[in-house]
Amino acid sequence: MEKSGLLSLNPQQREAAEQIEGPVLILAGAGTGKTRVVTTRIAAMLYNSIRPENILAVTFTNKAANEMQERVAGMVEPGMAEGCTICTFHSLCVRILRTCIERLGYKKNFTIYTQSDQIGLLRRIIVRKAGKEENLDAKLANTLISQAKNTDTPISDRDDALIKDVYDTYQRELKSLNAVDFDDLLILAVRGLEQNDDIRSEWQRRFRYIMVDEFQDTNNLQMRLLRQIVGEGEHNICVVGDDDQSIYGWRGADITNILDFERFFPNPKVVKLEENYRSCNRILRLANSVIRNNRERREKTLFSAKGEGEKIRVVAMPDAETEADWVVANILEGNRIHRRPWNDFAILFRMNTQSRIMEERLRESEVPYKVIGGQSFYERREVKDILGYLCLFLNHDDDISLLRVVGTPPRGIGQGTMGLATQFSIDHQLSIYEAMNDLEFLSTLTNRAQNAIGEFTDFINKYSDVAHTDSANYAAMTEELIKEIDYYEFLKRQCKSGDEFDNRRQNVYELLEGMHAHTAKSRKGLRGFLDGVSLMQDKDDDLNEETQGVSLITMHASKGLEFPVCHMVGVEDGILPHSRSVDEGNLDEERRLMYVGITRAMEELTITWCHSRRRWGDQLPCQPSSFFKEFSKDEIIETDHETLDNEPMDQATADDYFAKMREMLADG
Ligand code: ATP
Ligand code: MG
Repeated sequence: MEKSGLLSLNPQQREAAEQIEGPVLILAGAGTGKTRVVTTRIAAMLYNSIRPENILAVTFTNKAANEMQERVAGMVEPGMAEGCTICTFHSLCVRILRTCIERLGYKKNFTIYTQSDQIGLLRRIIVRKAGKEENLDAKLANTLISQAKNTDTPISDRDDALIKDVYDTYQRELKSLNAVDFDDLLILAVRGLEQNDDIRSEWQRRFRYIMVDEFQDTNNLQMRLLRQIVGEGEHNICVVGDDDQSIYGWRGADITNILDFERFFPNPKVVKLEENYRSCNRILRLANSVIRNNRERREKTLFSAKGEGEKIRVVAMPDAETEADWVVANILEGNRIHRRPWNDFAILFRMNTQSRIMEERLRESEVPYKVIGGQSFYERREVKDILGYLCLFLNHDDDISLLRVVGTPPRGIGQGTMGLATQFSIDHQLSIYEAMNDLEFLSTLTNRAQNAIGEFTDFINKYSDVAHTDSANYAAMTEELIKEIDYYEFLKRQCKSGDEFDNRRQNVYELLEGMHAHTAKSRKGLRGFLDGVSLMQDKDDDLNEETQGVSLITMHASKGLEFPVCHMVGVEDGILPHSRSVDEGNLDEERRLMYVGITRAMEELTITWCHSRRRWGDQLPCQPSSFFKEFSKDEIIETDHETLDNEPMDQATADDYFAKMREMLADG
């Protein structure tokens, strides 16, 4: 039997999967099996005795990387795929940097600053520079800085020099913290490879077969990274993508990379895929009726053997509350009457904030759900605080954890003292903890500061002994720690409302729960627990990956995924297309986002919008998305909530409905 899965491909797909030498370029529409070609290609290589260590597949989200890993593992013998590198650009960069960051002036144990860390640091810098009145928002600063870094352009041309100053300080401080942010990961990895011949050839020797999914969203830096690891001689690189799905313009994703591909990797084998295996034809035609309005694109034909499917419903709702009620009722009906499992459903929205009300209704109706791409549990401030202590107990040189916890809660060691300690540690090449124990340093401080520092280092030492003992009950130790530092009292002061406090405290309880569970089944102690946490974070935001449930997901995060039944909600002017993008002249990109959303649906698609929506405390009127005008009228039914509610059922549906009801009752 043919094991690699090649036989399950159509001739064009197979041609692409079998061509493992030389450059291969697949540009094809949604759902044509591009990702499937990549995974099958990897399986075929493994069966062709190519060493797994030599195979690299890169994509954009952790979820996509995980899915690819699973798909490959499912196609080969157990264990055979181990050793392949299937990961995101960011995690590839981390691997590269662990081998060479010292050449770039960082310490080897650098820490990765997540977005919440970045914003925290920026907020401190802004307040220090400009006082509390300054209205430069830390999140905005973060976006501007990220843009500047990714596109290698000077930061915004705002009149005031503040943002520039903040940017410079931010970069300097990150460096002195021995930390890098997500953008630095790429920038530094590229620099490391470009500047060090030995490192570069090492990685080139390692990865001989390279694949990139969602290639349309690679930016210039990522392209440079690829060129470094692909190397000069053989160009065994296969990229797959769809120019119509390029939705990360703001991260500097560059559609010209697709054109550049042929420049850097000449004479690629170009493969065309036109059969869509995902969606019914009405969905495809609707998607096409929208995307054809974009100016610069390659025209593509897409067809599907899955039949016509139902018309797409475009439903007007009075307000977001009714919309949420209706969508949830619809999902419930799909589950109860049509026996669809919860996993079949997805609710897609443009902005993260739109998920809250949906979550509320789903919870009230006891429908299981999972938020995909939401904030990771381990990203939450209170969880990071506690983990920070634990990391520090195990590794006194972990400067970031030390800086995180030294003032959490405050213990009489001020910012000024910490600034001096950090500087001393840099000047003398020590960790901050070592600086805090250094007599020369301590002698420069006041008695009070010396005492406070002495108490702090004693406190760390006291816990470290327990932390290092694998057999110790570290969950109990953590509970004791929380009590000793009176953490809940501190947390309460940090929270704006009682609700927020309850939530955050609950998260700490959950963390403790996790520890108790781990102690019960593992002998690896605290170190083992923390390793698990890091790995989980690497695997992304989805702790509930395994659980069944309706997916709540932003359109950006939905790229590459598919669901039998999709609800796109809040599709209004200002939301999709988003007002900011319209102002900035990025209407085409919003249209591509709409296209991505529509093409996630396999069988049923419903698009809803609201006549009014609560914003900044007021109920404001809304207009339907301007994209509706582009919809092919043949494929849609336009209606409103009231009509649907009062609509008599047609006979066939009614018969079906009652038959299913009877069946259900009989089951019970
Ligand atoms: P997107 O553009 O959204 O990333 P894609 O081109 O990567 O889509 P896939 O996700 O690989 O498409 O495939 C879409 C669906 O079609 C998947 O469920 C996949 O298993 C199925 N599929 C792809 N090729 C075939 C095939 N030759 N036979 C049967 N099913 C296929
Ligand atoms: Mg794909």
